[in-house]
Amino acid sequence: MTATRVLVLNSGSSSVKYQLLDMVTGRRPAAGIVERIGEPASRHLHTGADGERRERVRRMADHEAALESVAGELAADGMGLDSPELLAIGHRVVHGGEAFSAPVAVDEEVEAEIERLIPLAPLHNPGNLAGIRTARALNPALPQVAVFDTAFHRTMPEHAARYALDVATADEHRIRRYGFHGTSHAYVCRKTAELLGRELSELNIIVLHLGNGASASAVAGGRCVDTSMGLTPLEGLVMGTRPGDLDPGVIIHLARVAGMSVDGIDHLLNHRSGLTGLCGDNDMREICRRTDEGDEAARLAFDVYVHRLKKYIGAYYAVLGRVDAVVFTAGVGENAAPVRAAAISGLEELGPAVRAELNFARTEGPRLISPEYARVAVAVVPTDEELEIATQTYELVTREAGG
Ligand code: AMP
Repeated sequence: MTATRVLVLNSGSSSVKYQLLDMVTGRRPAAGIVERIGEPASRHLHTGADGERRERVRRMADHEAALESVAGELAADGMGLDSPELLAIGHRVVHGGEAFSAPVAVDEEVEAEIERLIPLAPLHNPGNLAGIRTARALNPALPQVAVFDTAFHRTMPEHAARYALDVATADEHRIRRYGFHGTSHAYVCRKTAELLGRELSELNIIVLHLGNGASASAVAGGRCVDTSMGLTPLEGLVMGTRPGDLDPGVIIHLARVAGMSVDGIDHLLNHRSGLTGLCGDNDMREICRRTDEGDEAARLAFDVYVHRLKKYIGAYYAVLGRVDAVVFTAGVGENAAPVRAAAISGLEELGPAVRAELNFARTEGPRLISPEYARVAVAVVPTDEELEIATQTYELVTREAGG
């Protein structure tokens, strides 16, 4: 039997999400999530091939227990980690630092490097690593591939990746702009080229990944030349609970004048800022609903969000020189027509424009929302990070096997 399936694992700090993808048929015979790892009532929700959903609630002390539960559910459906149809596991790894600009087959050296990168992503890389180690222990013969959120942005030129900080200090602590959401930006660019019926190598694209976390990137001929997230996923656009760009003096002020601790500031910036900080809601659906009802705080949150988006679109126009497409993706980008309309409104002189009937139409899949006369295409392209991770894993493993 030929191995055509890839298991994608996204092993976070307290959860493991997974999807099994068949790279020949395009089917996804299994998927699920284990949540609240380490708590007394961890929850495992599994959906099998026939769409049957199973839920189990019991204590899973660590990632090892969680992955054993995942392997058990897959085996119960005849799709266990030793199944001859399973080609490889593709792991999402958040931080690949400067070392990784492409997916890699995991070996001890790769594991050690992911571990060395933990100080740069203390919330993410430990869970990612635990997932890799446990999966390797469960089936040492199965190829494991690490796909990094940062890799797509490694093509950024030095002048975009550098902060204007003292070089010795920055280098000692590996402080530079790495960028995140790379698998999404890469996938969306490829899909945009397909949608436009053009070669990716000919296109300059601005990608707006607007989810709970949000980032923009400027992509020239398929290569990222700038992105809005930096050393951490805090920089750039306004997000659900993160402020994006901020005068670094604010942090000094919070410490020196407001007397906040480093942990207190960390919590404020990661959980109590952004849309939540401005209006108490991080869900754009709710914000649009409240805005329609005349809620002032929600209106301000919406306006701050859109203003920052526009600034990045303008900045990336300047970086790219010529733009062929502006593309919206992720939860807000794919669903919030009012955000898309407001972000593009007033930019018509630059080239992009939005046609209201197309923008507000309830259509799924990649689509253009710009009128035919627009010099720059505006598109909505649903992202699919699992498919991108599976594709990169499949390509690497079949290439290495000489397939
Ligand atoms: P993601 O991180 O890509 O899953 O995006 C999650 C976010 O998408 C949520 O926090 C919502 O703000 C937003 N979202 C999802 N569906 C909608 C919708 N129908 N309209 C507006 N925003 C939405």
